[in-house]
Amino acid sequence: MPHFIEPKRLLGAVLLGAVALAAQAQDKVLNLYSARHYQTDEALYHNFTKATGIKINRIDSDDAGILNRLKAEGASSPADVVLLVDAARLTWAEADGLFQPVKSATLQERIPAHLRGADSGSGTQWFGFSTRARIIVYNKVRVQPADVATYQQLADPKNKGKVCTRSGSHPYNLTLFGAMLAHLGPQATEAWLKGLVDNMARAPKGGDTDQIKAVAAGECQIALTNSYYLARMMRSTKADDAEAVARIGYVFPNQDSWGTHVNVAGGAVARHAKHRDEAVAFLEYLASDDAQRYFAEGNNEWPAVPTVKITNPALEAMGRFKVDTLPIAEAGRNQVQVQQMLDRVGFK
Ligand code: FE
Repeated sequence: MPHFIEPKRLLGAVLLGAVALAAQAQDKVLNLYSARHYQTDEALYHNFTKATGIKINRIDSDDAGILNRLKAEGASSPADVVLLVDAARLTWAEADGLFQPVKSATLQERIPAHLRGADSGSGTQWFGFSTRARIIVYNKVRVQPADVATYQQLADPKNKGKVCTRSGSHPYNLTLFGAMLAHLGPQATEAWLKGLVDNMARAPKGGDTDQIKAVAAGECQIALTNSYYLARMMRSTKADDAEAVARIGYVFPNQDSWGTHVNVAGGAVARHAKHRDEAVAFLEYLASDDAQRYFAEGNNEWPAVPTVKITNPALEAMGRFKVDTLPIAEAGRNQVQVQQMLDRVGFK
């Protein structure tokens, strides 16, 4: 419910009214639940407060902590804006009724349609603000890039005993597999997941960085990783990171077909937001050129707004690639079906 002066009424207001509004702006606040903890975010929030007078109260947690907290707090939640990582988690939150739809011409125009939640007619539930690609890394001595040019090839018998991965049920994998389900259909996707399990060098464990290191160390030869983990290692000043990076190659899969899967870090207005207008203003600010740069740079990601230029040496080295434009919300919604497949094929 709008609870400060509407623009039309403002037009009729005299100077006195404008002064009153400025005073009111000093008291404006926004409660932000964020799973992001990057230094560049400080500048992001500071600039927003400077431009709008809206103060930001941050409650930092990890993604699971934020979701649990929102559920536990229910209607009394002070949350106005929620920032989460991965379309799978954004879709869970949407399905759990933790967000509310937003209608914003700015966000519709700036954020590409495939990087947003579904539009129910009354608005969009969430928006992606940065993108990360799910890429394949391989051991340069043992694997030819042509053998891992597509996601499908991960399940090829020629790659038997070479693949290592984090848990299939991790959101990063659930969303990728959900995209595969949209592209291949249920039968072929389940066969592919079975093939992936058959090709594993070891049982799934660890995070994406652990898989990159295992490939570099020769414990396995092929792995999936989000692009920012590799970019972080490429920019690292540690000798062992540089050594690991020297041993591996990477490919953006499916360049000759539908493109490489990209996921998002995204934001939404909380279902019970008490500062709804400020929350929408913050999301719109996140889509601005400056905010896009800070938001993406904090985690070596690409801005969601395609016209925003980046100056990240690791990302520039990776170059441009064909992005899968399947709606990420569709991939996120497929996670339930994907999880059933994972259980059937024994993908832990
Ligand atoms: Fe991550």
